[in-house]
Amino acid sequence: MSEDSKPLNFIEQIIEDDLEQRRVTKVVTRFPPEPNGYLHIGHAKSICLNFGLARKYEGACNLRFDDTNPEKEEDEFVSAIIRDVKWLGFNWDGEVRYASDYFQQLYDWAVYLIEQDKAYVCELSAEQIREYRGTLTEPGTDSPYRKRPAEESLALLESMRKGEVAEGAMTLRAKIDMASPNINLRDPVLYRIKRVPHHRTGDTWSIYPSYDFAHGQEDAIEGVTHSICTLEFAANRPLYDWFVENLPVPSTPRQYEFGRLNLNYTVTSKRKLKQLVDDGVVEGWDDPRMPTLAGMRRRGYTPAAIRNFCDSLAVAKTDGVVDMAQLEYFIRDDLNRNAPRAMVVLKPLKVVIDNLPEAHVEQLPAPAHPERDLGERTLPFTREIYIDADDFKEAYSKQFKKKLSPGKRVRLRNGYVIEASDYLKDEQGNIVQVNATLVPDTLGKDPADDIKPKGVVHWVSASLGKQATVRLYDRLFSHPAPDRGEGEFLEYVNAESLVVREGCWIEPGLASAEPGAHYQFEREGYFCRDNRESGLVFNRTIELRDSWSKQTPGKQN
Ligand code: ATP
Ligand code: MG
Repeated sequence: MSEDSKPLNFIEQIIEDDLEQRRVTKVVTRFPPEPNGYLHIGHAKSICLNFGLARKYEGACNLRFDDTNPEKEEDEFVSAIIRDVKWLGFNWDGEVRYASDYFQQLYDWAVYLIEQDKAYVCELSAEQIREYRGTLTEPGTDSPYRKRPAEESLALLESMRKGEVAEGAMTLRAKIDMASPNINLRDPVLYRIKRVPHHRTGDTWSIYPSYDFAHGQEDAIEGVTHSICTLEFAANRPLYDWFVENLPVPSTPRQYEFGRLNLNYTVTSKRKLKQLVDDGVVEGWDDPRMPTLAGMRRRGYTPAAIRNFCDSLAVAKTDGVVDMAQLEYFIRDDLNRNAPRAMVVLKPLKVVIDNLPEAHVEQLPAPAHPERDLGERTLPFTREIYIDADDFKEAYSKQFKKKLSPGKRVRLRNGYVIEASDYLKDEQGNIVQVNATLVPDTLGKDPADDIKPKGVVHWVSASLGKQATVRLYDRLFSHPAPDRGEGEFLEYVNAESLVVREGCWIEPGLASAEPGAHYQFEREGYFCRDNRESGLVFNRTIELRDSWSKQTPGKQN
């Protein structure tokens, strides 16, 4: 469906209504990652939604790091996130923003709340706060510090800020309603003491604002109109609104929640992704098996395919699990249209064409793409070539009628027809060489004797081809719901998620492939040149066809 004919999602309906009623004149959204990990496919949905809305309604979208928790945050994550958002194809409005830029303003608003008798310094421990909070069915109990005079709270907050109070000894809490049916409104914590240096503010602060106290106010400072987050924040919305109503903020943002994207056969919890990295299950955050944007980029997924996938998803008010096959469909769709073709032999078997002279070299032209004009490449054809070992059978059988076997013919892709005459085995009984003859005058033509080959095989010149390492990647987990299975999610890691093949033969033009360049290796799948290794290393992005069944867990070969 075209952009215009697609029905509006619920957020677009809200926006169009706001614009029509003139509640909003310019739509401002934001993408607010916490720099405590790499972005993953779930974030891509949020990025496409937030930046997409800004684009559609000619508004603006900010990139703002939600760096209010210094314990887990690092600059490495900041730069990785910036790179990934750009790679996905989006530009933010103005400079990159940081929650930490607003620490002073947030502190001033905390002081304001105390002065308005709407906040107090509480000396209950975290454990006691939990006990006093009550339950879903029982109201909470007022903290004994709730009625403390404002002057006292102001002085204590100042000491907390200066680092004069031990961690955990005090918090600043809003004074709302300990009997509220919404637990989030039972005097939530606004500031905690953390004697931890911050990646940007260093040792300036000894107290850090809670997510709830920070997020909406940051939105208000930036003039965000529609603050879109995931469903688990729905119960925090009344608190979000309470701050906006009770503080002299410069604008009134509204929060809307949509369903998280979950993909089967993978995990998107940052904690679990970090565990995969820390335990060495994968090589890093950008391991091509990771559902991170950095991993998918290295795997060969394209930004356009990821955006198309995200746009195909419903923006709903329920969480859902999307089939990995849906993402893979968009990857194949994009690569099929755009990836140049190449020939690579993964399991090489030498074929000697006896009726060609030793020094024979013929440059055969081949289109880079079968349907589109992406130019031409040339394939040197020589007396010795490699074909895939699976394309040769010792004896002919109907099941393998498309393969080469003694006395039978195949067409070399983009080349001639050959007929096998003999083969050699080593001492272990492995076939190590096939001898064949070229059927003359068969370039783009059927053989004159009308004995047509049934199959077409890919090949590479043995003397002029190059050798490369090919990494065959597959899904990281063999269980459709690794984090909802009976065991630990790590038990479901697919042992065959990476198979490395050394000594593959590639057509010579591939030796100058750019890092990250995409190809369809004919009959094998989609691959890209690794963007890290300097040698000739290609990563399998995806097989040509889906070999994973939807009905039964695991892979069908
Ligand atoms: P954390 O547990 O560390 O808070 P998070 O997944 O919420 O993890 P953030 O960095 O806070 O990570 O997320 C940035 C934005 O991306 C948020 O607005 C969040 O709602 C959104 N987001 C995160 N995961 C998903 C997901 N699976 N689907 C859609 N949006 C997501
Ligand atoms: Mg979060």
